[in-house]
Amino acid sequence: MQWRRQDNNWQWNVSPGVTAWFTTRLGGVSAPPYDTRNLSFMVRDATGSVRENRRRSVPEVHRLVMAEQVHQEQLAWVGAANAGQGAFQASTSVPGVDGLLTTDNDVVLGMGFADCVPIFLSDVVGSMVGILHAGWRGTTLGIQIKAIEALALKGWDLGRLRVGIGPSIGPCCYEVDDVVARKVRDVLCHEETLAPGRDANHFYLDLWTTNRLLLERAGIERDNIDILGRCTACHPEEFFSHRRDKGRTGRMGGFICRTSNEI
Ligand SMILES: [Zn+2]
Repeated sequence: MQWRRQDNNWQWNVSPGVTAWFTTRLGGVSAPPYDTRNLSFMVRDATGSVRENRRRSVPEVHRLVMAEQVHQEQLAWVGAANAGQGAFQASTSVPGVDGLLTTDNDVVLGMGFADCVPIFLSDVVGSMVGILHAGWRGTTLGIQIKAIEALALKGWDLGRLRVGIGPSIGPCCYEVDDVVARKVRDVLCHEETLAPGRDANHFYLDLWTTNRLLLERAGIERDNIDILGRCTACHPEEFFSHRRDKGRTGRMGGFICRTSNEI
């Protein structure tokens, strides 16, 4: 289990049964500030450019299933009947969810990211795959715990689950106010993932460790959580960053599928 840069993507190598990748901004056709591989229809980029960028990013784009992503903790199980939802326009995305799970090898699960944490899920042989979108809201609402509980409920052995945490804004760059810090303290019951910020009301938040601790609480072993640790805000040559770019920017994509759809 490891993260590896492969061409213009970061690839999470979890199992021969799974293909999981996170795109960079490189290798697309969009003009600034979406240069060059923006994958979101929702940021005022040209629709034709986004479709081309998605075609370049997902080999079987007609099998893609995208989630609406509303910064909450709802999940959806999807399958072949959902193939193509959100693939060519945002309005058909699976509504109201920030997590997708499947056992079907006819779909590619996808979501857009530009600082929030992409959490990839698989079991050790790839009989199930999933992806979660976790900013501070989804993280403190417990989307990661909810996903693990959903899998446990369907009979998955937690010891066989694997989690990959991809590029997102890191503890180096993610300053939050005391309202967010309080929510983190409330859910973790300690301050291990908060560091002092510019004044008494601001803190640097480590979303990677916060998610890891909550996943461990849900029963995932620490050794089975694979954190890349690469900050989107620190690497403008490689990533869009909503915080760094003050909202005018594109989105990378996180994608995962069972291996019959291998890229
Ligand atoms: Zn950083």
